[in-house]
Amino acid sequence: MNVVFPTILIFIIGAFWVIRKYRKKSAWIFPQKEFPLEWRSVLVQKVVFYNALTKEEQKRFEYKVQEFLLNCRVTGIETTIDVVDELLVASSAIIPIFGFDDWKYYNINDVLIYPTTFNRNFETTGPNRNILGMVGSGYMEGIMLLSKQALRHGYTAIHEFIHLIDKADGSIDGIPDLLLEKQYSIPWLNLINRKIDEIYESNSDLNPYGGTNRAEFFCVVSEYFFERPNLLQKRHPELYILLEKIFKQNMTKRNLKKRTLKIGRNSPCPCKSGQKFKKCCGRIHYS
Ligand SMILES: [Zn+2]
Ligand SMILES: [Zn+2]
Repeated sequence: MNVVFPTILIFIIGAFWVIRKYRKKSAWIFPQKEFPLEWRSVLVQKVVFYNALTKEEQKRFEYKVQEFLLNCRVTGIETTIDVVDELLVASSAIIPIFGFDDWKYYNINDVLIYPTTFNRNFETTGPNRNILGMVGSGYMEGIMLLSKQALRHGYTAIHEFIHLIDKADGSIDGIPDLLLEKQYSIPWLNLINRKIDEIYESNSDLNPYGGTNRAEFFCVVSEYFFERPNLLQKRHPELYILLEKIFKQNMTKRNLKKRTLKIGRNSPCPCKSGQKFKKCCGRIHYS
């Protein structure tokens, strides 16, 4: 008995551990609490996309942001992060999938924030530190790396989430099978090839990094789509139309003109509460 009992016990504990681990992975957590006012104030002051939404859409955006943060941890590595960083990560996750009611990021558990850019060995000092963000597979499965600088200054985080969206069908290849309706796959592929050729012929205003491969191309033009939809539509109408079909969002309809987020203290609060900004989300100042 002395020998058998501990063996059984270990087995049981092991089984529980496995079950718990399994449950933890599969059980998706839904928001139960109201969206915090301080969080809303961050979205108003930091996220152009949020301010361009209707009131109902803003509610849905908040819910999705909250849901994302309940299911994915954001952790600072060699740096402290605050609620602004967390909300910027979550917003970058939600913007590209906002056109889909039931999208869930099952393929990400952790976002690690680095203080600066890093290199292939994840070093934040030394040479070749040109990486702003990264997702991957294998030992990187479920993990995203982002530099804090990039997160605070642009669309890099969206770029990385678009890699994850692309990856949800099993491969990072620039063809998001889950989003793209069958009849658009061939036109999409042809258009990518043509536009990459244009980049190589230096005959394009697209970020040359998009010429790396189809996966990077998809991210680069998606950043463009979400950041400057009107310009994309003007310069690359075919790309714009297909991206609109992929993301199921009419971005030119959204009023993203105010890209600077300078909100007058006496103007109506972008959260559409009906109050003045200074009495509402402007009470806390985020730099
Ligand atoms: Zn990339
Ligand atoms: Zn407000």
